[in-house]
Amino acid sequence: MEKLEALLRILADGRFHSGEEIAQGLGCSRSAIWKRVSRLRELPGIEVDSVTGRGYRLRRPLELLDRQAIEGSLSAQVAAALQGVHVVGSVDSTNALAMTAGPEIGRGAAWFAEHQTDGRGRRGRAWVSPYGHNIYFSLAWKFDASLPEVAGLSIATGAALAGMLETLGLSEHGLKWPNDLLWNQRKLAGILLEVQGETTGPATVVIGVGINLDLAEHTKRQIDQPAVGLSETGVDVSRNRLAGNLLESMAQMCQEFAREGLSPFIARWRDYDAFAGRPVCLVGPGRKIAGTCAGLADDGGLRLLSGGQEQVFYAGELSLRAGG
Ligand code: ATP
Repeated sequence: MEKLEALLRILADGRFHSGEEIAQGLGCSRSAIWKRVSRLRELPGIEVDSVTGRGYRLRRPLELLDRQAIEGSLSAQVAAALQGVHVVGSVDSTNALAMTAGPEIGRGAAWFAEHQTDGRGRRGRAWVSPYGHNIYFSLAWKFDASLPEVAGLSIATGAALAGMLETLGLSEHGLKWPNDLLWNQRKLAGILLEVQGETTGPATVVIGVGINLDLAEHTKRQIDQPAVGLSETGVDVSRNRLAGNLLESMAQMCQEFAREGLSPFIARWRDYDAFAGRPVCLVGPGRKIAGTCAGLADDGGLRLLSGGQEQVFYAGELSLRAGG
């Protein structure tokens, strides 16, 4: 993979590079380059044009992740709290990687990947993760609190992500309970929280976030619901800046949650509620309840008006869908 990444760094600008120039840059033969280009083409999301007399180029330029740039953008307070920021190439899933980390994470550590071969959503669903154009991120954070006390993090993460995107200039985005991030009814980002630890604490939480930045049309066709990339929303942000802002906002959120719990995040989440007042359906294993969404409860549950009664539901196995 390292050799492929070295080749990608040369081609990242989207311009033509001759076989000779690449061979010189990488210190290998032109036939070795040809073989590496064939392997590059196997990576989902990477398309390489080759033109006789001109060489090779990436059809879509890309900005590879740069650990130093990401770390350099962090506030002193977040940088001091983090034990490590890791950037990896291809990985099964950043959450899986973060879940295997041990006590060496200290208070917290973060992972970014260029590509996930087995990106995860909730309940075994897949997160489509082509190479080099989006953000795949996990933050492992150790809370002194018990598992039940960190349950509200799912809501806090959604609120923090929506707020971070607003600071980058995004508008018209909303949250679908508990924490899907939508832009004009299309999915822009997804969140997957996984926890480790004894019920009584301390709990280590792995906060996984996928943000679509530059989502190709052929990638959208692999996703079984409408999806969108940030680049289509009018927000112009570099991939490394987005990565740095995401890490900063998630680590700050963990620190604030540890100090103050869920309550400060409730009002922020409500500011982005995309479904309050709308007819919805709550779908879980073997059940489907139709009603009107009455917004977020003070403890992070979903208030649903159904058959003249209000009930509060909690995440776990439930999915919110538009319509009756
Ligand atoms: P929920 O159960 O919370 O209502 P969901 O059904 O959208 O949410 P998640 O587990 O949050 O499920 O995310 C996985 C789903 O997201 C996949 O089943 C797919 O529909 C969609 N998806 C997968 N990859 C992407 C992507 N890159 N961008 C947007 N959506 C995606």
